[in-house]
Amino acid sequence: MIVTVTMNPSVDISYPVDILKIDDVNRVENVSKTAGGKGLNVSRVIKQMDGELIASGILGGSLGAYIIDQLNDENVPNRFLKIDKESRNCIAILHEGNQTEILESGPTLDGGEGDRYFKLFEKLIEEADVITISGSLPKGLSPNYYQRLLQKSHGKDVKILVDTSGEALKQTLLGDKKPFLIKPNTDELNALLEQETTFDIKGLKEALSNSLFDGVEAIVVSMGADGAFAKIQDTFYKISIPEIKVVNPVGSGDATIAGLAMGIDQELSWEEVLKIAMTTGMLNTMEERTGRINKANFKEYFNQVKVEKI
Ligand code: ADP
Repeated sequence: MIVTVTMNPSVDISYPVDILKIDDVNRVENVSKTAGGKGLNVSRVIKQMDGELIASGILGGSLGAYIIDQLNDENVPNRFLKIDKESRNCIAILHEGNQTEILESGPTLDGGEGDRYFKLFEKLIEEADVITISGSLPKGLSPNYYQRLLQKSHGKDVKILVDTSGEALKQTLLGDKKPFLIKPNTDELNALLEQETTFDIKGLKEALSNSLFDGVEAIVVSMGADGAFAKIQDTFYKISIPEIKVVNPVGSGDATIAGLAMGIDQELSWEEVLKIAMTTGMLNTMEERTGRINKANFKEYFNQVKVEKI
């Protein structure tokens, strides 16, 4: 069973307008409001792939209730810590082929709320085989909060996948307890290593051999249309994908995490795990809505992914 963690979920609002008029009134007709946050995208893709999961994290207020309602409507089992503070809205204005985003930072948590989530997390660890932790941390929690979550799994038979960036990722890697897998994209890898990696085989091999990754079982660098490159223990893999028609690439990294978690949960070979992950990533880019895939196309694209040891 897979547990997904989303510490700062949101209600994602999309406002399509022909032209965005600044310092003027913009009226919107086709508003869409969906439960958002990277971990919720992961959850949706697992659900659509018929995986067994529990979505978890912290939320609150009327927006928190809206998020739970949506997950229930989509039959995504969930167990969130509910707090007295209001969850956030994230607004995307779609105009003239552009996407202008207004992202609320969300509630500022205190140590007590962080500690209460530790307790819930400890219970979930007992039920989970695989846990995915996605996205940024809410304000108020220390950047090593994910590392502290990892430490709760000490001695337990659970594999934890962490997909975050910036200081939260650095602190995750610097701590004693290493994640089982991380999935930086190319920008996140560069920011983490504070360098401009050359994304050829030599540059990638060098980057993934950085001592910062010591003890991490699997590092999967997702590279958009260029597929991915991975280091699993001491073996490097180049993963190539076919050219596809992209409709909306937002959330494809989350769909990739969903595929990784499912393959790992099913104890498949790394070649298969990586192929599943690329396929769920690609299928997400082919849909309008974030975190959606058309499972009927799975086999066709899965068969076109190539994984080679390099
Ligand atoms: P993130 O969303 O984290 O930045 P990526 O953009 O690297 O992640 O995308 C994750 C995966 O989704 C890729 O490895 C690939 O399988 C698929 N994908 C993303 N963008 C494209 C694209 N333009 N064409 C084909 N596949 C894509």
